[in-house]
Amino acid sequence: LRRQARGKRREVALGIGDDCAVLRPRAGEEMVVTTDLSIEGTHFRREWHPAESVGHRCLARGLSDIAAMGAGPVAAFLSLGLPQKLPQRWVNEFLLGFLTLAKRFEVTLAGGDIAESREGVVADVMVVGAVPRGKAILRSGARAGDVIYVSGSLGGPASTLKRMFAGEKVRAKKNERHFFPEPRIAVAQKLRGVATSMIDISDGLSVDLAHICEESKVGAMVNELLLPVARNASLEDALHGGEDYELLFTARENAHVPVEIAGVAVTEIGWIERGGSVRITDLKKTRALKARGWEHFVR
Ligand SMILES: [Mg+2]
Repeated sequence: LRRQARGKRREVALGIGDDCAVLRPRAGEEMVVTTDLSIEGTHFRREWHPAESVGHRCLARGLSDIAAMGAGPVAAFLSLGLPQKLPQRWVNEFLLGFLTLAKRFEVTLAGGDIAESREGVVADVMVVGAVPRGKAILRSGARAGDVIYVSGSLGGPASTLKRMFAGEKVRAKKNERHFFPEPRIAVAQKLRGVATSMIDISDGLSVDLAHICEESKVGAMVNELLLPVARNASLEDALHGGEDYELLFTARENAHVPVEIAGVAVTEIGWIERGGSVRITDLKKTRALKARGWEHFVR
C-alpha cells in the first residue's frame, strides 16, 4: 500500500508510513467522513466480479457518499481481510481498480491495514472529504413544495445483477455501471446552494427517498411517468434496484436546476408533500411507494 500511495493532496499533511495520517483541512472547510464495508458473497462474488471491478466498487461507494453531502473527496483509507490462498494477482488487480478511481478523483490513499481473513475477501473503505463550513447538503432539508430530482438513469445496475442471477455471463465492461459505477462528485459540487436535501441512491430510489422523507419529516409523490428508467431496466429495477449511485435531491420550486449538470442529465421526478407518506402516481392512479431495496445477493 505504501508504494501505491502517491499523488498526495495538500490536505494530507502526513500519509502512509506513521502510526496515523495527519489531515489538515483548508481554512473555512470542514471534513466529512464515511465508511463502507464490502464483503465477498454479500456485496460481490469473485466468480462474477473481476478484482478490478471490486476495487473500483469499494471506493465508488464511499465517493458516492461524499458526493451526497455536496463535498469533495480528499483521502481514502483501505483495510483488507484477505484469505491466505488468494492469488497475489487478484490483490494487484483489486488495487489497480481502487487506485485508478482514486487517481481520477485526486484522492490520496492515506492509510490502511491488511490482515488474513479465514473466509472470503473483506474490504473496509473510509473516505474523508471536504466541504465549505456549514455547506454540507443534508438529508433533513426538504420542505413541502420542494421538487424532487435525480441524476442520470435508474435501474441499470439492478438489471445487470438480475441477468447474472439468471445465470447469464456478463462481461465486466468499463461502461457497465454495475461493475464500474460512477460517483457523481462533479454534479454534487454544483448543487451546493441549490439542493435543499440530498442522498445518493445506494439501496434503491424507494428506500433512499424514504430516508430523505424521514429525516426531513415530510412525504413525497413520485411521478412514475417522469422516471429516467435505464435502457433494458424495468420500472421495478428503477424503483427498488439500488447501486445506481445517482444523486437524489430536492430543491425549492422556484430554484433554477439545469436539465444537465457536468454532462449528466438531471430529471425532475416528483414533489415533496406534507405528512409522512411516500407515494407514486401515473397521474391516473396513486399508490404507496413501499421502501423495498434490493436484497443484495440474497440466496
Ligand atoms: Mg449514502
